[in-house]
Amino acid sequence: MNKFIVADPNKCIGCRTCEIACVLAHSPADALITGSLDRDFTPRLRVVKTATVSVPVQCHHCEDAPCANVCPSQAIINKDHTIQINTEVCIGCKNCIIACPFGVIELVPQVLKGEKIQQTGLKIVDGNGAREKERIVALKCDLCINRQEGPACAGVCPMQAFKPIEGTAMSKHVKKRRLACAEELSRISFKQ
Ligand code: SF4
Ligand code: SF4
Repeated sequence: MNKFIVADPNKCIGCRTCEIACVLAHSPADALITGSLDRDFTPRLRVVKTATVSVPVQCHHCEDAPCANVCPSQAIINKDHTIQINTEVCIGCKNCIIACPFGVIELVPQVLKGEKIQQTGLKIVDGNGAREKERIVALKCDLCINRQEGPACAGVCPMQAFKPIEGTAMSKHVKKRRLACAEELSRISFKQ
C-alpha cells in the first residue's frame, strides 16, 4: 500500500506553518541566505480555510492513481510506495490536474537550483520578436521522499495535526472503525 499523510481538522489552527516548511524543504539548503527561496511560494500542500474548517489538503498517493493513468508522458510513477511526478518529462498538459479528485496538483514554473528553466522549443512571439518561455510543470506533494526526517509539514506543526498513514496505521484505523460499527449495530433492536 502507498504511504500518505493526513491532518486532523479538529487540531489544525490554520497557521500555515506547514506550507512554509514545505517550501523550505524543497528549496536549496542555503535559500534563505542566497535569496533563492521558491520565489513564487508554491507549497505542495494547501491549507484550506472556510468559516467552519481549516485543514491542509495534499496528495493521497492513490493506489490506482487517476493522475498517472491520464498522463500522456508517463511522467507520474510509483516510487517507494509513493506517487511522484518526473518534472523532466512533464509537458504541462494539465490532464493530471483535471483527473485528480482532490485538487492537489498545481502548475508551476520548473526551477533548478533556484533558477527558472526555459523551454528549448516553443518561443513566445509578439511585436518585439521571439523570446524564451519558462517551462511550466505539474507539482504536488512528494512526501519529502528525499528528506531523511520524513515530511517537513508533519515535523513543524505546532498542533501535531498530521498523521502519517502506512500499512499498520491504516489497518488500525479500519479495525477501530469496524469496532465502532459493531458497537453501533449492538444498539439497534432487530424486530422480526
Ligand atoms: S495527485 Fe491526486 S490523483 Fe494523483 S495520487 Fe495524488 S491524490 Fe491521487
Ligand atoms: S501535466 Fe505533466 S504530469 Fe500532468 S498529465 Fe500532463 S504531462 Fe503528465
